[in-house]
Amino acid sequence: MTAERLTIVIAAFNEADSLPVLHPRIEAQLDALARDGIDAQVLYVDDGSRDATWQVMQHLAAADRRIALLRLSRNFGKELALTAGLDRVDEGAALILDADGQDPPELIPQFVAKWREGYDDIHGTRMEREGERWLKRVTAHAFYRVIGALSKTPIPADTGDFRLLSARALHALQQLRERHRFMKGLFGWVGYNRIAIPYHRDPRMAGSSKFNFWRLWNLALEGITSFSTAPLRLATYLGLLTALVAFLYGVAIIVKALLWGDPVAGWPTMMSVILFLGGVQLIALGVIGEYLGRLYDESKQRPLYLVDSWQPASPARPAHAADEGDRVHRLHGSAVD
Ligand code: UDP
Ligand code: MG
Repeated sequence: MTAERLTIVIAAFNEADSLPVLHPRIEAQLDALARDGIDAQVLYVDDGSRDATWQVMQHLAAADRRIALLRLSRNFGKELALTAGLDRVDEGAALILDADGQDPPELIPQFVAKWREGYDDIHGTRMEREGERWLKRVTAHAFYRVIGALSKTPIPADTGDFRLLSARALHALQQLRERHRFMKGLFGWVGYNRIAIPYHRDPRMAGSSKFNFWRLWNLALEGITSFSTAPLRLATYLGLLTALVAFLYGVAIIVKALLWGDPVAGWPTMMSVILFLGGVQLIALGVIGEYLGRLYDESKQRPLYLVDSWQPASPARPAHAADEGDRVHRLHGSAVD
């Protein structure tokens, strides 16, 4: 019987402090999975870290043949780093985990149990958001409400990237090559048999979050524009509404002038009408611009990311014979997408 393959994909950006703490927990899970007849591996993706993350990874990989390493040419952001990692999983299922220990590896057996029951997309849903400030909680809640209402693709609320994808779900995801990637939405687009596993999201083990409000806002924009064209329609309705109000106001002015005459006045009204219309037009243009810009990016057909270094796992080789030199395949400047 050939063992089922499971690859744990972990994207890391400046996580030199977290990885050494996280890795032993992962390793314990790898051992447990192996006892369970699953051929489990880890794939660490270094998303252009500027600290010692890559050195830490190499150190870990030298001690364990089940570790594969991928290094991107620069920081491409979490969505692309995950894409790069998932692209390298050519066999079996993949499980995605954060490098900061917020997604507890101890839950992996639960995910695997559901996978064995035949589910394709098993995602962790956080039960509470403790340790997050109220502003983040309120905005996150609002975001899931908005995207839920606008998007035709189901995007479960409070669900991050902690998930297990079966081989066929992974294969489907690998076919989605868009540049503007909102992973939560792409997972939803794939569909198949989905199930949520509620879990308690731990605080970060070390370092600080890479997502400040500006990055989150951009991620939200990405999500909305990638999965809905409703804002474009909104521009149409906003235009119609203003035109209607303007027409009624015009009629009112004409009637007033006919009945009572019009000793030229109305500088304040004129000014506010001009500014209001200007504002509405700029908003509509901005909305169009958001979509046009994304279309422009897609049309350039650049590779999604560039790989600096790829070091596959080598479970077949004896542990101590690991010779760094021949395991590292350098792909300088080559486009891999
Ligand atoms: N991450 C990444 N590239 C980035 C930013 C983040 O690979 O440009 C990784 C990061 O190392 C971590 C995960 O994405 O493993 C989640 O990031 P973080 O913990 O900062 O986000 P939060 O949990 O605060 O949403
Ligand atoms: Mg985190």
